[in-house]
Amino acid sequence: MTTAQQTSPYQHYVYAYPHKTAYRRLQDRPALRELWAAEDRGTLSLYVHIPFCEVRCGFCNLFTRIGAPDGLTGSYLDALERQADAVRAALGDAEPVRFATAAFGGGTPTFLTASELERLCDIAERRMGADLRAVPLSVEASPATATADRLAVLAERGTTRLSLGVQSFVDSEARAAVRPQRRAEVEAALGRIRDAGVPVLNIDLIYGIDGQTERTWRASLDAALAWRPEELYLYPLYVRPLTGLGRHQGDAGADPEWDTQRLRLYRAGRDHLLARGYVQQSMRMFRRADAPPQGADDYACQTDGMIGLGCGARSYTSTLHYSFDYAVGMHEIRGIIDDYVTTADFAHAEVGYRVDGHEARRRHLLQSLLQAEGLSVADYRARFGSSPDGDFGTELDRLAGRGWLTDTSGGLLVLTPEGLAHSDAVGPELFSPEVRSAMAAYERK
Ligand code: SF4
Repeated sequence: MTTAQQTSPYQHYVYAYPHKTAYRRLQDRPALRELWAAEDRGTLSLYVHIPFCEVRCGFCNLFTRIGAPDGLTGSYLDALERQADAVRAALGDAEPVRFATAAFGGGTPTFLTASELERLCDIAERRMGADLRAVPLSVEASPATATADRLAVLAERGTTRLSLGVQSFVDSEARAAVRPQRRAEVEAALGRIRDAGVPVLNIDLIYGIDGQTERTWRASLDAALAWRPEELYLYPLYVRPLTGLGRHQGDAGADPEWDTQRLRLYRAGRDHLLARGYVQQSMRMFRRADAPPQGADDYACQTDGMIGLGCGARSYTSTLHYSFDYAVGMHEIRGIIDDYVTTADFAHAEVGYRVDGHEARRRHLLQSLLQAEGLSVADYRARFGSSPDGDFGTELDRLAGRGWLTDTSGGLLVLTPEGLAHSDAVGPELFSPEVRSAMAAYERK
């Protein structure tokens, strides 16, 4: 058996590096003012995290709670306001502060009412200074909360991309993923989103659900395609510890048969979309070839600073990634949110990971390589003064030996289609030993 055969394709979804489980309490509580003093503040991105959902999907390990007791969303917005004021003051006015992108994620931002969403936009605009109507603004929603009044607010305030978590158009599969919703409700929500006129619709779908077949997977894809979404995200199902599915099924561990099913569905889904005019951007993301440009493409996630507001949001400077405490278990999440809404001092970083020069190179390599267009060797050299081969020759040779990396002579490092299919194995292999051991030492809660 080759190493490639031994490596499960589904180890870790690397949407950020280092993962939050590598973060630790920062004993020196660095002041944000000092952290941001030497940073470029001209192309920041703003992310606001809303940690509320109507239900907890069985596969979800995001930082979110079910429902909100009376008054909690209001107190959460109050805390967001205080945090925004503190962060904006820390950024200072010595240099122009400009946000190039903005996003409201969660959780489910549309758990907030229409008037609460107005307030959320006001916080982003008036407190932080983000010009929401002039930059790409992405918002996540669920079918039940994508109501006409909320969508009208979001469209009017400049939302350019609305992402709807559908997961499956087959009711029994939605139930199996512990996301009870009816197709009729999903279709109605999609109609409302199109009516609202937000330029980019993204639909999230999941493969690998119990009982899902290639036929039902195609049926879900076709139901999504009927709306001509500008973007589609195809997610492999994961069963993670402490999630609803994890509690019922146990820690799934190695499951070669499930791996094979997910890979088969991935390939079927990818080929289906490629044949219907979509372009693959990464293992999960597909964009309609004739979709209007989003603008966010011009924004390099490997290099720019990120300001996160809310108790589940991360912020990135060039040397520190920081956030608040992290948990997956419902009881702990509630405790962290309750602490957040009573916090008065938002002027310091509390929990984080210090990113040195070597980690910054790894992060750049990892985040570029996992994009279908790959890594530009010239860009890497311009940023770090060294070459990816010189810095990560052993790792790159290993990927090439498995047939996962194309010939690198053209100045681009690009994953092969099989490499891209194995993105969730490629990513974790590129983690540094330090990040790996911090993640392993993290106590799940
Ligand atoms: S998947 Fe989305 S809607 Fe479902 S619980 Fe997680 S954050 Fe909420």
